[in-house]
Amino acid sequence: MRSALAGVALLLAVSACGGSGPDAGPTSAEPAPATSSVSPSASTGAAADGTTSPDASSGGVAPEDTGASPGEPGTAAPSPGVPPKPESPAADVAAMRQAIRHLAGTIGPRLATSASFREAADWFSGEMEQLGYRVTREAFPVPAGDSWGVPVEAGRSQNVIADPPGFDPTRPHLVVGAHLDTVAVSPGAEDNASGVAVVRELGRLAAAYGTRLPVRFVAFGAEEPRGPGDDLHHFGSQHRVSAMTAAEREALRAMVSLDRVGVRGSAVPVCDGGTSNGRVVRSLAAAAGGIPTTTCEDRASDHWSYEKADVPAARLGSIPYAGYHSEGDRPRVVDDRQLRWVATITWRWMR
Ligand SMILES: [Zn+2]
Repeated sequence: MRSALAGVALLLAVSACGGSGPDAGPTSAEPAPATSSVSPSASTGAAADGTTSPDASSGGVAPEDTGASPGEPGTAAPSPGVPPKPESPAADVAAMRQAIRHLAGTIGPRLATSASFREAADWFSGEMEQLGYRVTREAFPVPAGDSWGVPVEAGRSQNVIADPPGFDPTRPHLVVGAHLDTVAVSPGAEDNASGVAVVRELGRLAAAYGTRLPVRFVAFGAEEPRGPGDDLHHFGSQHRVSAMTAAEREALRAMVSLDRVGVRGSAVPVCDGGTSNGRVVRSLAAAAGGIPTTTCEDRASDHWSYEKADVPAARLGSIPYAGYHSEGDRPRVVDDRQLRWVATITWRWMR
């Protein structure tokens, strides 16, 4: 809608900065960092790099064979004389596109209580397991209602939770999630295969390069409404929050929901529901570096379930588009630059 073409060239130049360093991306074979001087976890670090090829991380060298979280390998403060890890290994836009095509093209509409939703949940689960995560599912009931004009029956949906090896939810951590379901008729390329694709890509980067805190990734079921009001949507995230113990809630430092993150805009919306004191929004905006962001108040995604439980949270995404909640929500509505922006901001924030 808003074109702001004048800014595009400049913005592209800015957004390209991630690839301008000495490391062309995860495919470059970094010399095993000089972490060899230290402990067993250092060897994990080297293996967890899995840098031989992005997809090779699905091989047996994933970080799963120790209790170390993937957060450890790259993030230790560099020792004197040891060059720091590259600032920003690049997000793989082609991989994100492929995930969007699979979800919105091959699988199609993913009503939360449908067989196609379960197929998508199986896919996400398999992807994250291949990256070395421990995946669990939690099922919950979803009431009958109205899915954007289509009457739908009650049923069950599920959240897919991917934890790094050794993850302890009572220790400080982050949650990054995206809803996997769609309204009844929509293939949901933008809403929300885009967010799920970014989550999967962040899972790959986190496993390979480490993060400042362990990150639990969640694909939520049943975010989409089954009627009006604040009780008839976000069923998966509300269930997730209610299943957390007090200790887990306290240990959860921040939650980010990636929801509708691929439609091209002149900036990335970074929003919260108004109860987080802007904390997460500010830290995300700071992490954006040269990528333009805008802020807003938004209670229309899974971050709101967390905010209601006093967990600092934010949402990335929500640029308006013509195909919203319709059959027109196909992969072509998603833009490479926007995907890269959102993945890069979130990755820098996690890292
Ligand atoms: Zn959505």
